[in-house]
Amino acid sequence: MAIFDLGIIGGGPAGYTTALYAAKEGKSVILFEKDEIGGTCLNRGCIPTKLFLHAAEVYQEIKNAGKIGIYSDNLSFNYEKIVEHKDITVQKLRKSLELMMKQAGITIVKSEAKIISDTIIESNNEQYSCKEIVLCTGSYPKEIKGLEFDHEFILNSDDILNLKQLPKSIVIVGSGAIGVEWARILSAFEVDVTVVEIALQLVPLADWEVSKRIERQFKLNKIKYYTETSIKNIEGNKATLSNGETIETDCILVAAGRGVNIGVNENFKGIKIIGDAAGEIQLAHYATSQAKELVLNIPYRKDLIPSVIYGNPEIAWVGKCFKSKEEEEGFNKVVFPVSALGKAHCDGCIDGFIKIVSKDNKIIGAHIISKEASALIQQIVIAMHNDITVDKLKEVCFAHPTYSEGILEGIMQL
Ligand SMILES: Cc1cc2nc3c(=O)[nH]c(=O)nc-3n(C[C@H](O)[C@H](O)[C@H](O)COP(=O)(O)OP(=O)(O)OC[C@H]3O[C@@H](n4cnc5c(N)ncnc54)[C@H](O)[C@@H]3O)c2cc1C
Repeated sequence: MAIFDLGIIGGGPAGYTTALYAAKEGKSVILFEKDEIGGTCLNRGCIPTKLFLHAAEVYQEIKNAGKIGIYSDNLSFNYEKIVEHKDITVQKLRKSLELMMKQAGITIVKSEAKIISDTIIESNNEQYSCKEIVLCTGSYPKEIKGLEFDHEFILNSDDILNLKQLPKSIVIVGSGAIGVEWARILSAFEVDVTVVEIALQLVPLADWEVSKRIERQFKLNKIKYYTETSIKNIEGNKATLSNGETIETDCILVAAGRGVNIGVNENFKGIKIIGDAAGEIQLAHYATSQAKELVLNIPYRKDLIPSVIYGNPEIAWVGKCFKSKEEEEGFNKVVFPVSALGKAHCDGCIDGFIKIVSKDNKIIGAHIISKEASALIQQIVIAMHNDITVDKLKEVCFAHPTYSEGILEGIMQL
């Protein structure tokens, strides 16, 4: 039986990061992947959706460029080509990841694996002895009762990646990151989009002011939405909502959470589970932080995991979220409008704000809607992680013209 220091099941961000760090530490590593290296993130999640978002943004930017004196007659797009570009890019990234893993000396077994004991993994009728085992088996799109996936009319986040042509209309169930990103992609490509959210506000996990602004942006982009609403019944191509309204639609995308791929025998106490499979925060960078801690003993702060929703403009937040104005009492708060930044006017991206909340001279949360919000939030994460006070941040020089200046301007008002 082959012997390894570390056996990993699952080749997504949790698995491949664990493998790469461990190999660098001189451990012999074997990784089992039943599908494609890169997992959900690279093959069906983060990366493909951002490729579609980029295409949608390019299309919209060219379409609206007349106001800055750039004209493109007969603008059109070929959706099949966009899907092909997504496939080629994902494949390219996957190949370079696989190469990196091979160069690091990691043994990759491309088949399903199961745990036999605390130290034995079985795959393809062969057994492998591993001193340590880490389970990184990820997650899958959750079904909702009455909205079971048929993969043609009722779609999940995997199905929608490979449509050969765009629907004319779609109902998206759920307004978390996946729902909002797809609403943005499809509406940019002129699909008639309706979002149905069961919670009180759009993007239920976000700050109340962020949710309000997203509602406004949805209206501007002609994305219809319902909150505190669910689909009660489907008949043919008609969805009846809990408020009694009926919507005719070409398809339904269910983006209402993800279940975990576990199936580990409870008796295997020595086995570690990280990433989506752990059922905590289902984000790629949370998975890689867990891998870093597991292998290199570098701790992370679970209360400082940033959230990002991509598209135009990006939405990002970290730290304390408020669900109403009343909840904010007793805290210092600034909401700095992006429209006050020169760079935002240069880019034609003035819709958004940088909201920073502090208490006792420390930032306790930030909520940003802006172009580059994904990069901006990282500045706040670093400040919060290092307990940098508001007064100390005021001393920092921020380049001009940038969106980062909005952070300084906000901080100066706290
Ligand atoms: C549409 C979408 C968009 C997303 N966008 C973002 C984003 O922008 N940013 C972000 O941070 N996160 C995003 N996510 C979430 C992100 O993809 C996950 O958090 C991340 O992939 C989790 O990594 P993981 O390694 O834990 O699991 P996964 O990436 O799911 O990898 C698990 C792997 O394990 C394999 N596996 C399972 N069981 C076995 C077995 N028995 N034997 C062998 N192999 C097995 C699977 O085939 C899979 O490849 C998105 C997700 C989706 C669906």
